[in-house]
Amino acid sequence: MSAPVLETSGLGRRYRSVWALRDCDLALPAGRVIALVGPNGAGKTTFLRLTVGLLRPTEGEITVLGSPAGRESADSLADIGFVAQDHPLYKRFLVRDLLRTGAALNLRWDQALAENRLEALEIPLDQRVGTLSGGQHAQVALTLALAKRPKLLVLDEPVAGLDPLARLTFLQALMGAVAEEELTVLLSSHILPELERVCDYLIVLTGGRVQLAGEIDELLSAHRLLIGPSEPTMASAPGVIHVSRGDRQANAIVRTDGGPVLAGWESRPIGLEELVLAYLHRTPPIPSTR
Ligand code: ATP
Repeated sequence: MSAPVLETSGLGRRYRSVWALRDCDLALPAGRVIALVGPNGAGKTTFLRLTVGLLRPTEGEITVLGSPAGRESADSLADIGFVAQDHPLYKRFLVRDLLRTGAALNLRWDQALAENRLEALEIPLDQRVGTLSGGQHAQVALTLALAKRPKLLVLDEPVAGLDPLARLTFLQALMGAVAEEELTVLLSSHILPELERVCDYLIVLTGGRVQLAGEIDELLSAHRLLIGPSEPTMASAPGVIHVSRGDRQANAIVRTDGGPVLAGWESRPIGLEELVLAYLHRTPPIPSTR
């Protein structure tokens, strides 16, 4: 396997007395679309901001593209693109001015990519940024990040403001860029069905801790849905991630490696949404002061 694009060891970040991220150990493979999912306040933005060097760790280490995050040279900064949750852009600029600024500031700027993408999206270059719709604003921010031709593109909830079709084309554009170039995408999102189509690696974060991380195919084949009679002791059996009970039967998401073997229970494969929801139900208390 090639060197991880991002590696963390014991990574933690505290805001005053509250830990937003704790004990984070990850090694993320290059050339993937990596989904970071978790409930509000799970620590996703904190993790992404640590990745791009906008925050410093309180403890532990984080290495991005071979350098400690936040201590990059101008060269290695060109390798990382970041689109923040609120896509901050200069509102008084024309879209064209943003492209001109991007060209002046970025070593590998791809003007043709930027212009072609905006034309396909029917976003005029002579429109003032402050008059764009929310979705167009998000698309312009992504276009600027893609035209930078980064090796790692970090996107904080990039599809939140987009309509369903725009979400799909946006995510497909990312997949295309990953397939064609030496690019890894790390994105946070709450919208699970689309992620299943485009992402190949998953991180589930709850309460500031990584609950699950791995190749989506491998994670799905390592879990099953078991359907059988409702038994109160089931939830505490080893390997059981989550149990939901009806009057007569229970549905249990379990790990197949070392999980319970229950004679007579029906066993079915699961999808990404079921897997993520099972882990989200396991949210531990938010870690506080030490
Ligand atoms: P969301 O899905 O709502 O965007 P998130 O998973 O991105 O949430 P973070 O923004 O990383 O979560 O926040 C994680 C925790 O850290 C939350 O409890 C939040 O209140 C806290 N936090 C984040 N930024 C600060 C800050 N600047 N000062 C104090 N606490 C903060």
